[in-house]
Amino acid sequence: MNPARDMLRNIMDAKSGAKERFQSARDGLIDLSHRIHAHPELGFEEEQASAWLCESLADAGFAVEKGICELPTAFRAQAGSGPLRVAICAEYDCLPGIGHACGHNIIAASAVGAALAAAKVADEVGLTVTVIGTPAEEVGNASGKILLLERGAFAGIDAAMMVHPAPFDMLRAKMIAASMFEVHCTGKESHASAFPELGVNAADALTIAQTAIGLLRQHIRSTDRIHGIVTNGGLAANVVPAHTSAKYMIRSETLEQLKELRPKVYRCFEAGGLATGAKVEIAGGDSPYAEMRHHEAIAAIYRKNSEALGRTFPNLGEWETRPTGSTDMGNVSLAIPSIHPMIGINSLPAVNHQPEFAHHCATPDADKAMTDGALAMAWTCIDLANNHRTVLQQH
Ligand SMILES: [Zn+2]
Ligand SMILES: [Zn+2]
Repeated sequence: MNPARDMLRNIMDAKSGAKERFQSARDGLIDLSHRIHAHPELGFEEEQASAWLCESLADAGFAVEKGICELPTAFRAQAGSGPLRVAICAEYDCLPGIGHACGHNIIAASAVGAALAAAKVADEVGLTVTVIGTPAEEVGNASGKILLLERGAFAGIDAAMMVHPAPFDMLRAKMIAASMFEVHCTGKESHASAFPELGVNAADALTIAQTAIGLLRQHIRSTDRIHGIVTNGGLAANVVPAHTSAKYMIRSETLEQLKELRPKVYRCFEAGGLATGAKVEIAGGDSPYAEMRHHEAIAAIYRKNSEALGRTFPNLGEWETRPTGSTDMGNVSLAIPSIHPMIGINSLPAVNHQPEFAHHCATPDADKAMTDGALAMAWTCIDLANNHRTVLQQH
């Protein structure tokens, strides 16, 4: 009798059982990833993707609930009945105009793959596996995970995970807090040449705001970000614009710092209204993305499993500390021990949110990332089930 050796053998058996199950589903999962990639859908409109994902999970014996928490494209799928409850998050929304340039098709397929593989051995290792379908990650405010968290979809979950495609593997990318808001300016039309003195120029209000933001950049943290687009700049060159609008995002290292940045940026827009006489209204910005807090111990387990599949985590220099994007997984991570490793698809020089990156998200390298991500997550679930009492206490 050697209990430690028996335990290790049980874990190894469970991992090879999970791997076998994954291999039998692999071709179907690659097809699923490519199908979602070929039919990009915007946030909260992911009807096909969520239907396909629910179908795959139901076929595999999961108990599936569609349209949870009053979000038609959100879902929950559960298998197993062990004491450790792990949620694997699936994202499946695209970006306007450039399709799956963030590779959420890979996230979705790897989440299903990890869940199928872990479910195979869930009861023997003591696991309940839940896939939570989380819509609209790219919207920037009041997104899927934020609403799902508020509405109880993560209640009772002990740990949460997902993998996200990137040019290269990064275990703990620095994901910062973010908030998106819309600005609507209302002035008064007039003939731009014959009666300019009768007009109130709503486009000038935005120009002044952008100039003020440019000056503000001297006085913010180097890790803060302010970026946006004008979504309506007027209708004709000879009509004083009466209605203009913009979408802006602000980001800081933490929600706390974001709270300091927000009023400074809002004042830039108010300055535009003050100077021109246009009415300026700001909408949104009230449900920000939180910074990602990577659970160190779970990340270490993921790394070990990922390396066992031949992946590497080289020293990335400044990339280790420089702010990258933002994710609503940050909000989940402040509530529940979570990981959000980036998985490389070998896309350089293409990076996320470029059309060239979208092309890379349905290649053999992308399929390999989906496969490795799914298996590394499934194995991480198995390891966690074995020692969650000690792991989840660490931070
Ligand atoms: Zn993105
Ligand atoms: Zn993304």
